Amino acid sequence: MTARVLVVDDIPTNVRLLEARLTAEYFDVLTANSGQEALDICANNPIDIILLDVMMPGMDGFETCRRLKADPKTHHIPVVMITALNQPSDRVAGLEAGADDFLTKPPEDMQLMARVKSLVRLKMLTDELRSRAQTGRDIADEAAHLALGSIDAENGRILLVDDNVRSSERLRNYLVPNHQLDILSDPTSVALGIAEKDYEVVLVSMELTDFDPLRVCSQLRTLEQTRSLPIILIADEGDRAKVVRGLELGVNDFIVRPIEKHELLARVRTQIRRQRYAMELRESVNNTMAMAVIDGLTGLYNRRYFERHSALMLEKAVEQGRDLALIMLDIDHFKPVNDTYGHSAGDEVLKEFALRVQRSIRGVDLACRYGGEEFVVLMPDAGQAQAQNIAERIRRSISDTSFDISNQTSIDITVSLGVALNNRLGDTPEALLKRADMALYRAKNEGRDRVVFDAA
Ligand code: GH3
Ligand code: MG
Ligand code: MG
Repeated sequence: MTARVLVVDDIPTNVRLLEARLTAEYFDVLTANSGQEALDICANNPIDIILLDVMMPGMDGFETCRRLKADPKTHHIPVVMITALNQPSDRVAGLEAGADDFLTKPPEDMQLMARVKSLVRLKMLTDELRSRAQTGRDIADEAAHLALGSIDAENGRILLVDDNVRSSERLRNYLVPNHQLDILSDPTSVALGIAEKDYEVVLVSMELTDFDPLRVCSQLRTLEQTRSLPIILIADEGDRAKVVRGLELGVNDFIVRPIEKHELLARVRTQIRRQRYAMELRESVNNTMAMAVIDGLTGLYNRRYFERHSALMLEKAVEQGRDLALIMLDIDHFKPVNDTYGHSAGDEVLKEFALRVQRSIRGVDLACRYGGEEFVVLMPDAGQAQAQNIAERIRRSISDTSFDISNQTSIDITVSLGVALNNRLGDTPEALLKRADMALYRAKNEGRDRVVFDAA
C-alpha cells in the first residue's frame, strides 16, 4: 500500500524522525513546520493522511484540525493527532476538533504503522466512492454533499460483544441514552442475527472468556453484510500486540481501559459519522448509476443501456445459435396529442404507454425508451411466431383501451411496430435496429396501428 502522508510538527527533529520511518515503509512523505503551512499544502496537493502535532506556536494542532475538517475540500482526509500529553482531556479535545485518531509522542513503531495503514485503507475506500459519485452525475454529487452536511452521529445503533456483566453495564451507562445498545454475551453466535440488524458500530471486548475476540472481528470482516461495519476493540494495556493484529484484520479503532466516558463517546461518534458518510456515498453512487441507465419519465431502461445490453444479448444469441427478436415502436400521431392536450398530458400518455408495454411482454424481454415517443423491445428466444404474438399483444394493449388523462380526458392512442429477427450471419445490433426501423417505416406508410416484419 502506498500513500501520501503529511507530517506536521514545529520541531524539525520530530519531523525528520517520522519522515524516516514512513519513507522506510514506502510512504510518500511531505512535511510542514506549522499549521498554516499544513493548510497550504493540503490546499494544493492530494494528501491521504495527516500526522499532526498538537503543541505548535501560533495555530495549534486543534485549530489546524478544526479548519481542515471545516473545509469540504479537506474534511475527508484522516487526521492523526500526535501529542506529548497523555491526558484524556487532550484526546477528547482532539476528537472534538474532528481528529480521527491520536498517538502519544514518540509514537511506537508498530502502532504508528498499523494506524496509518488502517486509516489510509479507509480513505481509499471513500475516495473510490467519491470518484464514482463524481463521474456519474453532478446532481447526485450535489445531493450527497447536501446530505453530508446534515449527517449527525446521534442515536447510533451499537452492538457490544462482551460476556462480562459488570463491564458491559458500565458501558451501557456511558452510551445510553445517546445511542441504542444491544449486548451480545455469547460471541459464538455473532454471525447469527447480526446481518439483519442494522448496526452502525460494533464494540468488541478483548476480555472474552474462552473466546478469541479477534475471531469475532475476522468473522465480521468475512460476512458480506458486515464487511464494512466499523469495529472498536475494548482493550487492556497488555493487549497491545493483539490490538495491532486486530487493526491489520481491519478493526477500525480501539480504546484502552480504564475507559473514560467522553473518549468512548467521541470515538463511537467518529465511527458512526464515518459509517453514515460511507452509506450516504454508496446510496448516491447507486442513484447515480440508476439515473445513468433508467429513463426518468417512464422508468424503463434508456437508450444508453439498450445499446450496451443489446450488444451482449445479440452476442450470446449468435454464440448459442438462438433466436432474438427486436421490436421498434413509435406512437402514432403523438405530436397532435401534445398540441391538443398539452405537454404534461403527453407525458402521462408516455408513462401509461410504457406501463402497458411492460405488461404485455415476457419477464425475459427488455423494454427501453429509445427516445421521445420511440421504444424498443428486445426478446431473447423469440422466433417469428412468438415475436408476432408479443408485438400484436402490445399493439392491442394500446389501441383497445383509451388513455385516461388525470381522470378527465380520454385519448385514443395507437402504435406502429416494426420487427426484425437475428436471422443473418454477422448481424450487429445496429443492423438489427436498422431493419426494425425500416419495417416500422412501412407500418407507418401502410396506415399505422399495425405490426410489420422486416422482409428478411
Ligand atoms: P407519427 O405517427 O408519424 O410517428 O407522428 P408523430 O406525431 O408521433 O411523430 P413526430 O416525430 O412528428 O412527433 C413526435 C412528438 O413526440 C413530438 C414531440 O413533441 C413529442 N415528444 C417527444 N418526447 C416527448 C416527451 O418526453 N414528452 C412529451 N409530452 N412529448 C414528447
Ligand atoms: Mg417519432
Ligand atoms: Mg410518432
